[in-house]
Amino acid sequence: MSDTIFGKIANGEISADIVYEDENLVAFRDLHPQAPTHILVIPRKPIPTLNAVQPEDAELIGKLFLAAAKIAEQEGIARSGYRTLINCNAAAGQTVYHLHLHILGGRQMQWPPG
Ligand code: AMP
Repeated sequence: MSDTIFGKIANGEISADIVYEDENLVAFRDLHPQAPTHILVIPRKPIPTLNAVQPEDAELIGKLFLAAAKIAEQEGIARSGYRTLINCNAAAGQTVYHLHLHILGGRQMQWPPG
């Protein structure tokens, strides 16, 4: 079991504003939202970074993105548009070492990202 803050959210030790969960995944609102809609989707499995994803995780990663699209629909941002991203390691700004997919929407996104 992961001892990161997200591992603790996944196992119910720490509360979060959960918008979706199933046997493999949990999705909750980011504590410091960078857009009107900012949700994090995590696997219950404590994978620290994208670099640590293994071939046997392929189905899980597919489910992560399928859930993101479903959540975007639920949140009413699917049609207007949204961004999904995974920060991997320090140079990308990763701060929590439990794999998480950001869903950001509800405003115009800029490119390139900072
Ligand atoms: P990253 O920089 O990709 O590792 O993103 C970590 C994200 O987790 C940041 O956007 C934080 O605002 C968010 N975060 C940290 N702690 C919590 C928490 N307890 N509940 C919800 N979001 C959190």
